[in-house]
Amino acid sequence: MTNGIRLVLLGRQGSGKGTQAVRLAEHFDVPHISTGDMLRAAVKDGTEFGLKAKAVMDAGGLVSDEIMVGVVQERLAQPDAAGRGYILDGFPRTEAQARALEAITSTLPLEVVLNLEVAESEVIERITKRRVCRSCGRIYSVDTPPADDWTCDTDGGEVVQRDDDTEGAVRKRLELYAAETLPLVEFYRAGGQAVEVDGLGTPDDVFGRVIDAITVHQSA
Ligand code: ADP
Repeated sequence: MTNGIRLVLLGRQGSGKGTQAVRLAEHFDVPHISTGDMLRAAVKDGTEFGLKAKAVMDAGGLVSDEIMVGVVQERLAQPDAAGRGYILDGFPRTEAQARALEAITSTLPLEVVLNLEVAESEVIERITKRRVCRSCGRIYSVDTPPADDWTCDTDGGEVVQRDDDTEGAVRKRLELYAAETLPLVEFYRAGGQAVEVDGLGTPDDVFGRVIDAITVHQSA
């Protein structure tokens, strides 16, 4: 068994973050913590918070920093993440969130901030083709569908297009990424945690590059 890892994934919508996060979580035997998945679970549960979040998400906006910081702080304090570490996907998305995360992780700092680089023109095509399992969040594409008639290979859930993968919401999310999240790459370069990997190619190709880059970074 490996030693675990404390890793944040950055990358624009459709860069393959979710796909690589699942593989990284398995490889390092740590939980995959996706703020998008946590919000979608709250929407599915029909809580008041979920309903409010759904309106923001469907419009391609960002849930408030204050709420997201609280959600992440609580999750990182759970024994699995506090013990072996985590793959954090979807957070931080703003400088305020990055600063809050620094405070939350002050005793056990982040080791790696992995930036998956894929051009905007490429991700728009990927997102249009993206489909997800309603129950477990597993990601498919029109080009790589589940084996059996849009039911998930993992848990038999319905595989659908996300409500926020409409053209308008996608454009808004990409604009917000460029304005709010991309500057964080520089922030983590300065902190020495940034590891940058080309996200083009098959999921296996990208994963190979990711593991190589993390190994180099950790032995430096
Ligand atoms: P994507 O990366 O494709 O936008 P996610 O599944 O990561 O998808 O997130 C879906 C939506 O959830 C976001 O568009 C946003 O509305 C909300 N969200 C997720 N994480 C955060 C966060 N850290 N801060 C604010 N909003 C968030």
